[in-house]
Amino acid sequence: NLQGKKESYLSNLFEGKSMKFDEFIYNQPDMSVLSDKLKNLIQNFKNSSSFEEQDQVLSKINELRKHFETMSNIAFVRYTKNTFDKYFEQQQNYFDEINPIYENMIGEFYKALLQTKFKPQLQKKYGNQIFNIANARIKTTSSEVLDELKLENKLTSEYRKILSQAKIPFDKKENTLSQMVYYFYSQDRSIRKSSNKAYWDFFEKHSDQFSSIYDKLVKTRTSIAKKLGFNNFIELAYFRLNRTDYNSDDVRIYRDEVKKYIVPLSQKIYEKQKKRLGLEKLNYYDEPIFYKSGNPIPEGSSKDLLEKAKKMYDELSAETSDFYRYMLCNDLLDVESRAGKAPIGYCTFISDYRSPFIFANFNGTIGDVGVLTHEAGHAFQVFNCQDHFFPEYYFPTYEAAEIYSMSMQFFTYPWIKLFFGDKKEKYFYQHISSAINSIPYGVSVDEFQHFVYENPSCPSLERNKKWIEIIKKYNPHTDYSENPDLEKGISWYRQTHIFEVPFYYIDYTLAQICAIQFWIKMERDKKSCWKDYLNICKIGGSKSFLEILKEGNLESPFKLSCMKNVSIFLQDYIDSIDDLKIDF
Ligand code: ZN
Repeated sequence: NLQGKKESYLSNLFEGKSMKFDEFIYNQPDMSVLSDKLKNLIQNFKNSSSFEEQDQVLSKINELRKHFETMSNIAFVRYTKNTFDKYFEQQQNYFDEINPIYENMIGEFYKALLQTKFKPQLQKKYGNQIFNIANARIKTTSSEVLDELKLENKLTSEYRKILSQAKIPFDKKENTLSQMVYYFYSQDRSIRKSSNKAYWDFFEKHSDQFSSIYDKLVKTRTSIAKKLGFNNFIELAYFRLNRTDYNSDDVRIYRDEVKKYIVPLSQKIYEKQKKRLGLEKLNYYDEPIFYKSGNPIPEGSSKDLLEKAKKMYDELSAETSDFYRYMLCNDLLDVESRAGKAPIGYCTFISDYRSPFIFANFNGTIGDVGVLTHEAGHAFQVFNCQDHFFPEYYFPTYEAAEIYSMSMQFFTYPWIKLFFGDKKEKYFYQHISSAINSIPYGVSVDEFQHFVYENPSCPSLERNKKWIEIIKKYNPHTDYSENPDLEKGISWYRQTHIFEVPFYYIDYTLAQICAIQFWIKMERDKKSCWKDYLNICKIGGSKSFLEILKEGNLESPFKLSCMKNVSIFLQDYIDSIDDLKIDF
């Protein structure tokens, strides 16, 4: 079937049928029309007298949903490309309004799906994951909480707006938050210090606003959870994230494993960094500077980097070559920084046009190559899933989704010299070190949120104190002594996930443990490793996290032996690098 799919997109490409992103047609969805159509179809679904008939109705339902989601995604991309665009700003507000109504209708659809007498035939044809998802999702919504869901959306949009409209005065100009990141990598320590000061001043100045938005979010979410019959929001959040294979106890044990095996390793990396930089103490603003001679910087303009990635994906495999050329040809990568562009990076999928879309803000740092390897990994996965029947199957749950992107960062290692020349060893050591260091930070974000939603009436100041306590538990090297604002515990304000998608963050760490396993296997048998990767790319969202791991021959990070094994390999790698020698 892959062959057929491949021909179809290649023929689209070469017969001029494919479209560039700007040519995609956007129409504001008419909610009352969509609502009537869906209601009718759901009724027909319930009344179907045979599996074949029901399967056909299901196909029409999916088409409608794919079209609605296409419009929603086009609107989102156009808005984030230019947040000053009044029309698409208004469309964002429109979607904030109608999304809960839409979600409620999908809830009705899920109920019908779970009750169908043709469930065994459907399971046989499409797998059980759609039923897992339906089962999780009907627990997360009801008409009783519609108004509060709308409020939740509105609050997260308010938060997003503060971030995207931030103007930080620095270096004789006004900067967006993502533009400020450039200065964090300066070789001049005083610039790093002052740019960080300016950056965090912004968060401190808006501290009341951030606290108040978050406070309302926590109370709203807790109230929604109670109305839906949960003890607290944590239980609801796990269902929202479709975590069907594991619960918060597994996650707690996993965090303990991180503390035991990854934290000491990470501390060792920071210690080596401090020595390399010749510093008495590693201040928080020194952390981004990995080498005394400076971090490796990709060679060339944004355009050059996109071209180099073409060579890389051409040589990596036939599949990645077709994919990346399709992306370039149809303007499906927007990577340059501009005023008004949202300070975020993401990959989405516009299904009516069979097109992934990659959004980023290049800033001349190592992170730019991360976009071309990481986000491209997401896009490659969904590109391989475009023929799935259910839109739910395009992307897997978050912790699984990040495996594809993070593993792609390892699979592209042999081409890293294209971007960094003779500094490639610097890139490898830094990439792996950052991967390791991100794990203790990731579990901190997770433990903080467990605390917040276990104690929903905790006052803001105490909440901030707890943040600092947890940060220091998993990142004992943290030194905020030169910035009293950070010592007060405000740095989580910039962590968008905490506001927007609660409990989504530990996912990055779970995926990283899996991606590292791919790296370990790559070193041993590249061919079978790539085969495993391609195999799970095609599975996409059609299976659950632990099932995907099984199909990819990966060990579950919740298994006690997993963290230990991974950490032994990492420890050997870190010890084998003469970090002073590559620092040139
Ligand atoms: Zn990602």
